[in-house]
Amino acid sequence: MPALFVGHGSPMNAVEENGFSRAWAEAAGSLPRPESILCVSAHWETAGTRVTAMERPRTIHDFLGFPKSLFEVEYPASGSPGLARLVRETVRATPVREDSGWGLDHGAWSVLRRMFPAADVPVVQLSLDRTKGPAFHYAVGRELRLLREKGVLIVGSGNIVHNLGSMVWRDTAYDWAVEFDERMKEFILSGDHGAVIAYPELGEAARLSVPTNEHFLPLLYVLALQDEGDRIGFFAEQVTLGSISMRSLRIG
Ligand code: ZN
Repeated sequence: MPALFVGHGSPMNAVEENGFSRAWAEAAGSLPRPESILCVSAHWETAGTRVTAMERPRTIHDFLGFPKSLFEVEYPASGSPGLARLVRETVRATPVREDSGWGLDHGAWSVLRRMFPAADVPVVQLSLDRTKGPAFHYAVGRELRLLREKGVLIVGSGNIVHNLGSMVWRDTAYDWAVEFDERMKEFILSGDHGAVIAYPELGEAARLSVPTNEHFLPLLYVLALQDEGDRIGFFAEQVTLGSISMRSLRIG
């Protein structure tokens, strides 16, 4: 099974017909049908690593200041206690705790409702351990490679460049955002994952593009899934709203 990283951007992409939401739907349409989905979303940070283990995850509307229509969206995919168990058994780098309180946050559902509108594929979320650095997240991703062979689609949902403080509501891009996004593209295409993990070494462009790294970290899980011979393709490549990179990629 291929793996995807999706630059999710504004929650409005969940309900708007636009180039991004169409690209997500097309990317999903070109995949073999997954048995289940494991989503690593920027919007679930915990102390320690957790995996959702409930049968029926709720739809979490974890944003403010958006239209009522967005708060009314439900994504009724079932969970998968079996996949949650498999994740716990597969990951050795850290203990993974089963969680019954979370559900599907908008990092997961805003993307998945465009990719799998029928909500007929079970979805489990894996949290980001906020106490750990980039190399740890990459290492956990490496261990998840086994799941690809079991028909699990792993989806990282975040943004390579994500600076809400600098964001503007129009289609434009800061030079530093484009610079950082392009450097990441080069590293990804050349397979230099060490340079992606060491992104703070890029200095000012990195500091502005990744002021906090919760949107960046899901990328590391997906890159870590790359096996020798896996192709990489980008299905969105735009920096928009000044400081949001929508770059999205498929591995395998
Ligand atoms: Zn987000």
